[in-house]
Amino acid sequence: MPELPEVETIKKALEQNLLDQTLSAVEVLNPKLRFKVPTKELKALVDHKIISIRRRSKYLLLDFSNALTLIIHLGMTGRLLLDGKSYKHDHVILTFKSGQRLTYNDVRKFGLIDICQSGDLDNHKLIKNLGIEPLESKFTKANLKEIFSNKSKSIKLAIMDANLVVGVGNIYASESLFESKISPLRQASSLKEFEIENLRKAIIKTLKAALKAGGSTLKDFKHLSGDSGYFQHSFLVYDREGQACKNCKKAIIRIKQQGRSTFYCTNCQK
Ligand SMILES: [Zn+2]
Repeated sequence: MPELPEVETIKKALEQNLLDQTLSAVEVLNPKLRFKVPTKELKALVDHKIISIRRRSKYLLLDFSNALTLIIHLGMTGRLLLDGKSYKHDHVILTFKSGQRLTYNDVRKFGLIDICQSGDLDNHKLIKNLGIEPLESKFTKANLKEIFSNKSKSIKLAIMDANLVVGVGNIYASESLFESKISPLRQASSLKEFEIENLRKAIIKTLKAALKAGGSTLKDFKHLSGDSGYFQHSFLVYDREGQACKNCKKAIIRIKQQGRSTFYCTNCQK
């Protein structure tokens, strides 16, 4: 499943390829995704230009010149293709006047495509309850303190809760908690101010490192998927059960929290 850095990388690639391009045709080959693809509404974008491309959480937002926004989420296995070729599991093809073609392909069909009025995006059912963006200015110590203050759940589950903070997936949660020396089992409300600040910085650092890794492999890529392994580089704790902690040499342990694996060092993280 693509995580926030992958989606941000895809956003940049879309910007490089499709900004200011005018849509000339929409073809819906298979409308079955998480929600039915709104074919009629998509056709309203034809003859209009993409004026900006944004990201909110893991949603890609393509703003068109007629004040409509195309919302795309890649779900588990969604891919955006710019190579102009046809594949099994292609769902939607957008063709632009320049000849460029953007194809949405999804094997497991958990992704989604929707349309809304650009001015009404913040009220969209999928967008309105999303938490703070970790790479934007509202991700402050004060705001995090407020968010965590009455949360009895563990800090790992709190930072992974998209209604509180968006884009901190399972890998980045384990890595950030190790980096800030905080046990994933601590109650969110128990964090002291300096710990919140360390965690905040660690989340930013971890996401930025992943972005940098993605950005450097971005050149010429035509398959905009999040599962290409760009970020499977050296983790500090993630997927390192039984291996020596890079800080103290004690074995990293793996536990389950809400069904997801958490990796941490019981010596370094308190
Ligand atoms: Zn350690």
